[in-house]
Amino acid sequence: MQLYLLVGKAGHRKHFLYSKTLVIMVIMSTSQKPTTQNKLSPEEEHVIVNKGTEMPFTGKYFAFWEKGTYVCKRCGAKLYRSENKFEANCGWPSFDEEIPGAVKRRPDPDGVRTEIECANCGAHLGHAFVGEHFTEKDTRHCVNSISMDFIPDKKE
Ligand SMILES: [Zn+2]
Repeated sequence: MQLYLLVGKAGHRKHFLYSKTLVIMVIMSTSQKPTTQNKLSPEEEHVIVNKGTEMPFTGKYFAFWEKGTYVCKRCGAKLYRSENKFEANCGWPSFDEEIPGAVKRRPDPDGVRTEIECANCGAHLGHAFVGEHFTEKDTRHCVNSISMDFIPDKKE
């Protein structure tokens, strides 16, 4: 409105261009905001935000073998496929490979382990270990069940 007053009568076309640019700028800034995030329960927040660890053998998915995709509890990004899940008898869901690009690794503050998080939203997932010889890929992503949701494959 103010812009219209400034450019006056002769500026009709200009005004139109300005508002178009403005709309594009608003769309751009909205698309840069983080993806919608699910509301977390206090237990979920303890693990996902404060990097806690759920008790072993208590999670939903440590002894769960259905075919499907594991997704981030907070943002819904796809993290792991059931084909990469294996029994490590450690009490947490274990995977030997993530969906490409889905998981970020960083040194854990304990100076020893490698922390893994959702590459999309930074949710804490658990830790990754190598050299344990569980599978051919020789990697174990030890993931808290509470950090994930499971989407079963559609039955053909
Ligand atoms: Zn996420």
